[in-house]
Amino acid sequence: MTRRCDRNRKRSKRRAIYCPIHQCYLDSASRKYSLFADKPEHLQQRGMKRLSALTLIQSCTAVPLTGEWLEAFWCQDCQARAWYHVRRYENPQSRGGAYGYELAPAPESLWRQASGVIQPGGNPSVGEFTRRSARNNSYQGVRGFSLIG
Ligand SMILES: [Zn+2]
Repeated sequence: MTRRCDRNRKRSKRRAIYCPIHQCYLDSASRKYSLFADKPEHLQQRGMKRLSALTLIQSCTAVPLTGEWLEAFWCQDCQARAWYHVRRYENPQSRGGAYGYELAPAPESLWRQASGVIQPGGNPSVGEFTRRSARNNSYQGVRGFSLIG
């Protein structure tokens, strides 16, 4: 279901993503940054057995974490943009395959697991990076970043 290029995708339906503080709808303010596991612990935290996690990391180096990503959202009540670690899950309440989303503030460490980030480890800081990319709307120079290294 994952599509590489969603630039031209029309959003017919708003995703059910709410501000954890205000419970109001959040507007997306960035692209999605996919997350990868590059340590067995990352997979173990998600319920994988230690041996399977070790084997997978050893063979793949970076394992994509499906249904998880980093994304910035604008909250009208907060009047602020913030980065969140989003986890998508299937919503048992709704039929027809609608998803629910769980938001948690994105810790700095998570950026090291994200794809397409200039400098994992925070230089420039996430805030600066956000402001700057919003202003010039350019992600050039971001693509060359490799997790393997
Ligand atoms: Zn809010």
